[in-house]
Amino acid sequence: LKKKAKGYIKAGKKIERAAVLGAGIMGGGIAYQSAVKGTPIIMKDIAEKALELGMSEANKLLAKQVERNKLTPEKAGAILSTIRPTLNYGDFGQVDIVVEAVVENPKVKKSVLAEVEGLVKDGTIIASNTSSISIDELAGALKKPENFLGMHFFNPVHRMPLVEVIYGTKTSKEAIATVAAYAAAMGKTPIVVKNCPGFLVNRILFPYFGGWSMLLRDGGDYLKIDKVMEGFGWPMGPAYLQDVVGIDTSHHVGDVLAEGYPDRMSNKEFKSALDVMFDAKRYGQKNGIGFYRYE
Ligand code: NAD
Repeated sequence: LKKKAKGYIKAGKKIERAAVLGAGIMGGGIAYQSAVKGTPIIMKDIAEKALELGMSEANKLLAKQVERNKLTPEKAGAILSTIRPTLNYGDFGQVDIVVEAVVENPKVKKSVLAEVEGLVKDGTIIASNTSSISIDELAGALKKPENFLGMHFFNPVHRMPLVEVIYGTKTSKEAIATVAAYAAAMGKTPIVVKNCPGFLVNRILFPYFGGWSMLLRDGGDYLKIDKVMEGFGWPMGPAYLQDVVGIDTSHHVGDVLAEGYPDRMSNKEFKSALDVMFDAKRYGQKNGIGFYRYE
């Protein structure tokens, strides 16, 4: 997969200016990562508060780099100034790529994507950071589906190296190449995958969560299991990982996979731990309580 991506990276057009839609957990992370690696980015949201949060997260990450003597305060300030928070589409006509990272709702995404397509210049690539919606379904809202594809980052963006570049049936090779090159320029490892439920990583991850969920049903203690998996050498165990990803997000992706692969992933037991947590509104780090508590 990496080899295939390398060919695309080589062929990809360099992105000079980018934009991200949404300044939430992912949009803020994407803006930071783009800026820190040298590509200026406009960050648009519909809520002032989200923009403030997105900028303060980027500022915190830059301050950490200054603390570790990896950046001077001046350089950090200069990087921060290349992220431009905005509530309107002002300069979208000048960007080479728009990464959409608004809420995971097909209706909202389709309307935002169609809106932005009408504002960008010819040849601007539009990518969605959706974790579960079909790229072909979203492409249906666009006049130029050849310029559209998935660019799936993982949370937290500044730490997770992989980016899935997901092509739909109408995505052009140029669009794949440009997104792969942008991911590489952001210091990430792109892999090029075909559109399907769960794309690639979640098709690997969810059977693991499913096996773990069944262990819990059999009386397993998730605190102990997390310790075992850390001892095994993984950076965190499954319960902690679910808290980081967000129980609501995982719950939804679990449904998508169950529908996409009814023969393999629709077993209720597969998702029982997630169901219990979701019903109790314990969404993980995002709302301060999941399998663990967060101050
Ligand atoms: P979030 O709720 O933190 O942020 C979404 C942001 O979008 C909010 O700030 C909201 O105000 C903004 N928004 C809503 N409508 C908008 C519009 N019309 N224009 C501009 N901004 C708008 O969500 P998130 O966790 O950052 O997720 C964003 C996307 O990334 C989703 O598609 C999600 O599935 C995907 N994703 C999330 C994760 C994760 O772990 N959180 C991982 C990979 C992918």
